[in-house]
Amino acid sequence: MLEYLVSALMVGVSAPVAYKVRFLDGLGTLTACILGLAVGFTMGPVFLGVLIIFLTVNSLFTKMGYVKKALLGAAEPKGGARTWRSVVANGLSATIFAVLSILFYRQILVVGFMSAIAAASADTASTEVGLLSGSKPRLITNLSSVEPGVSGGVTALGLVGGVIGAISIGIIGLYVVHAIYGFPMLRLLTSNDPFIPTSGITRYALAISVGGFCAAVLDSVLGATLQAKYVCRVCSKKTERAEHCGVKSTLVGGIDHLDNDTVNVLATFLGAVIGVLVFLA
Ligand SMILES: [Zn+2]
Repeated sequence: MLEYLVSALMVGVSAPVAYKVRFLDGLGTLTACILGLAVGFTMGPVFLGVLIIFLTVNSLFTKMGYVKKALLGAAEPKGGARTWRSVVANGLSATIFAVLSILFYRQILVVGFMSAIAAASADTASTEVGLLSGSKPRLITNLSSVEPGVSGGVTALGLVGGVIGAISIGIIGLYVVHAIYGFPMLRLLTSNDPFIPTSGITRYALAISVGGFCAAVLDSVLGATLQAKYVCRVCSKKTERAEHCGVKSTLVGGIDHLDNDTVNVLATFLGAVIGVLVFLA
């Protein structure tokens, strides 16, 4: 019972703060509350804490270099405040694994949950850090030069960001969880949690880091191939939006309506599955 109260309290405190500092817009905050409660009530407050820390770091990355990115026209809209679509894109896969963890074999699903967070973390870090790169991005599929912010474009700096994003969740996240489980004062909170790491923590950290980084690479590959690419009928600009200048754009590549958020969900889910497979290997 105590862990439910603590989880609800964590969501009840962090969500209004995230809204107040414009990490999330209104609907984004509501969506984050729903996903946060689902994670808190299934995996307990410790893992909810990992998720909240990730979302905070994630938002800080988005805010980082906002002015420079705004000049490039590649910044997230609304001053970096995340919409409900963005929250779902980053958090849905982790929540699915969290909910599954109370139904099935738990430790493997915890690896899936953590890998999904590492995946979203790696993707955000590589995208945001990559946008600050001085060199022009190249398309991950055929290495042709593309404009900054174009889906599927990668830079060396962006890939380094992806590795750091994945490893930071894989190692730091897991060691924090491990430390908290070992902390007597907090045992009350963790007594019902599904995951009690005792040994082989390196194996967990490795699986989660690999899953996370693979997801960031997959995100670029899917972005370069399946993601919808349009040309505006009015201003003739290349765009990733189905609508531009108030009219429907012409599809010139990828699958219609398969946007960046959908690619994110697919990539984080695949990254989580890869993490589980690496863990089992
Ligand atoms: Zn246009």
